[in-house]
Amino acid sequence: MTTSSDVIDDAPEADGDTPLPSATLGGERKRSIEQITLLLFITVPFLAVLAAVPLAWGWGVSWLDLGLLVFFYYLGCHGITIGFHRYFTHGSFKAKRPLRIALAIAGSMAVEGPLVRWVADHRKHHKFSDAEGDPHSPWRFGETVPALMKGLWWAHIGWMFDEEQTPQEKYAPDLIKDSALRTISRQFLLWAGLSLALPALIGGLVTMSWWGAFTGFFWGSLVRVALLHHVTWSINSICHAVGKRPFKSRDRSGNVWWLAVLSCGESWHNLHHAEPTSARHGVERWQVDSSARLIRWFEKFGWAYDVRWPSRSRIDSRRIKAGKDAPREAETAEAA
Ligand SMILES: [Zn+2]
Ligand SMILES: [Zn+2]
Repeated sequence: MTTSSDVIDDAPEADGDTPLPSATLGGERKRSIEQITLLLFITVPFLAVLAAVPLAWGWGVSWLDLGLLVFFYYLGCHGITIGFHRYFTHGSFKAKRPLRIALAIAGSMAVEGPLVRWVADHRKHHKFSDAEGDPHSPWRFGETVPALMKGLWWAHIGWMFDEEQTPQEKYAPDLIKDSALRTISRQFLLWAGLSLALPALIGGLVTMSWWGAFTGFFWGSLVRVALLHHVTWSINSICHAVGKRPFKSRDRSGNVWWLAVLSCGESWHNLHHAEPTSARHGVERWQVDSSARLIRWFEKFGWAYDVRWPSRSRIDSRRIKAGKDAPREAETAEAA
């Protein structure tokens, strides 16, 4: 037993993994202040969404507020999907230094937790997807309807409050080695604060009024964060419970078309688990994947290189052949 437990006295042991490091990278400790902060980050924006509909009816929504909502939504969303997910977690392309830093900051502005923790959790999710050890499988409690309801709640939100921590040194040593990324990850609250403050600042300056600052904050910060949270979490919950499964993967990931635009292309989740390092998730011509489109532009500008675009033959080799591989999986869940 190491003495690290003296340093982080309330940190649990993680399922026989390496002990937690004593130096915090942001997000190692979830009890106390961080648990409360997390709870606030989750509930306050959500309450704003509940209030949004009647308020929009009464106040009307200005084009400025709508613009702030859409701009900051897609900034954070692509920061997560292109940055935290496809680049930092899976290495589906290489990035020049300025792009690497910009993606780390843009992803932090999605208010989904520090970079290193996000990546560690997600790598663990792929290692154990829908099996014992997956931090957020909706199948955790079984396959009956009540168990799946409980599991969906767990995969969507509950897992974030779990005392069990993904050991960051074990799952994200490559990021920890980079001092700039380590710093950005540690400064998570700063980036989250900036992300919440900017819409208010812009709203106030453009209208030159406190009311403009308030509505900018309401729509551009609170409603935007809530929407992005629930869309991101839906990839963990909905996209592991329903959706089409045309590709071979050892889990229950599905392609959910109606989340494609809002999730910046991440809801083509079955392909993603079948081919995790692919820079494109929506591999069919009609499958919207704005993240892949942006990576393409980054590549043209010379900011991204060695992009792992999947070849047609590679994709076809991952398809489930009728009557052969796991037909049960292929036929289920036409819900999407
Ligand atoms: Zn998944
Ligand atoms: Zn992934």
